[in-house]
Amino acid sequence: MTARRIVLLGPPGSGKGTQAVRLAAWLGVPHISTGDLLRSEVQNRTTLGLQAQGFMDRGELVPDQLVAEMIRKRIEGVTGFVLDGFPRNINQAKILETVTAVDRVLHFQLNREEIIRRLSARRVCPQCGHVYNLISSPPQHDNLCDTCKTLLVQRSDDTPEVIERRIDVQYAREIGPMLEFYRKRNVLREIDAQGDIESVYQAAQRALE
Ligand code: AMP
Repeated sequence: MTARRIVLLGPPGSGKGTQAVRLAAWLGVPHISTGDLLRSEVQNRTTLGLQAQGFMDRGELVPDQLVAEMIRKRIEGVTGFVLDGFPRNINQAKILETVTAVDRVLHFQLNREEIIRRLSARRVCPQCGHVYNLISSPPQHDNLCDTCKTLLVQRSDDTPEVIERRIDVQYAREIGPMLEFYRKRNVLREIDAQGDIESVYQAAQRALE
């Protein structure tokens, strides 16, 4: 049986978000991205958004309790999901275990130079949220969204200094204990995220069967 409660782990820029959208559509389950949920809270100037914004601008993790409460509400009652961006540390992994079981965890592996190269070329549509990459998946017309023709922007945390912090503070420091946690539960699968979108997608699908 294909797994339906999925967690994606990997450094920023490893293609988790892109693959999460495709895998969720394939499985017919919601794609739940804590980054997207938090950005929407910030945009709507909610209490949570105002609390989270400073951490996000600095490339640091938003405190666990704030994100845990948000994810708990979002997951309640759903029978399947592709989680993208949560958990980000061992404490969050333990919190998640109190909310739901997880069938499979995919870890997207990518080296540092490629992470920086990809994130520097990332552009997003502020209107519909579609994500482009100027190198690997550019829009048809210079800097305009293919679907809604809105001018594409760079995420404010995709600058070189913040990217470095996100890799070091959020990923490198936290990933080891999480991998061990999920390896022990026998749900972890490693995915080489170096390839193009299609080949990584196929590898991810195989890892869910
Ligand atoms: P992302 O879109 O996944 O790169 O997330 C953007 C930013 O949101 C991160 O740099 C963090 O500041 C924050 N964030 C997203 N997910 C989490 C999480 N699970 N725990 C804490 N902060 C998070």
